[in-house]
Amino acid sequence: MYADSKTDTLNITIIFLVKLKFFPQNPLLTIDRLIKIELFKIYFKYSVGHGPRILANFQRERPMNNKKNNADIIELGLGDALLAIHLQNDFLPGGRLPVAEGDQVIPVMNRYIDRFTQRKLPVFATRDWHPKNHGSFIKQGGPWPEHCIAGSTGAEFARGLHLPVTVQIFPTGTEVENDGYSGFESAALKKQLEKLSVSRLFIGGLATDYCVLNTVCDALDLNYQVLLLTDAMRAVNVHRGDGEEALNKMISKGAIPVTLAMIQ
Ligand SMILES: [Zn+2]
Repeated sequence: MYADSKTDTLNITIIFLVKLKFFPQNPLLTIDRLIKIELFKIYFKYSVGHGPRILANFQRERPMNNKKNNADIIELGLGDALLAIHLQNDFLPGGRLPVAEGDQVIPVMNRYIDRFTQRKLPVFATRDWHPKNHGSFIKQGGPWPEHCIAGSTGAEFARGLHLPVTVQIFPTGTEVENDGYSGFESAALKKQLEKLSVSRLFIGGLATDYCVLNTVCDALDLNYQVLLLTDAMRAVNVHRGDGEEALNKMISKGAIPVTLAMIQ
């Protein structure tokens, strides 16, 4: 079809104005090339914007999926600390508030303790330490039988637990009205962690669905990185599935599940 020079000039002007509107920095490039540049920009923006999040999720999921890969080995170093929760006689089978298989946590925790003491890294332990009229006891209107009365045999650390002489102990539930569910109830714990510049906490103990859960949630709220010692904790499971629900809650809040084999 014939097109006179006036029509050509008009077409070229319209195309130039369209390019100027949509690609103001490069109006002289061909449409084809401009589209390629724009597509690349979108791709680049997506990759850069989402890369770190994808990587974080990937790293978080790997420890559970592929235990043999070197990337799953966690090397202990400065800034790491072990926190053993409530490993006391009353919470073991035969105690006043027994957690099923609670005794099986002890040998595993001992091996974690070895790993930390070998590297001269701090080991902390919490212990439930109640007055006789503690508010959590059934006769005071609470949900639990009497347990971990301060100074009693039941409140002592489990026989067989090898805490190092350097262990720092933090009591919880020392007042009638404090439930003692979180190690951070003792203000001294946070102070000590700050003093020793701890940034990564390895937490295990009893019970998964109460004191471990509450301590881990508080630690995450305080911006500590938390690694869950999944092979060194057990749940009370007052309701079936409580332990699993607690694990899911801690993981979705940011805690990373690990096992002894992954710690070096
Ligand atoms: Zn208690």
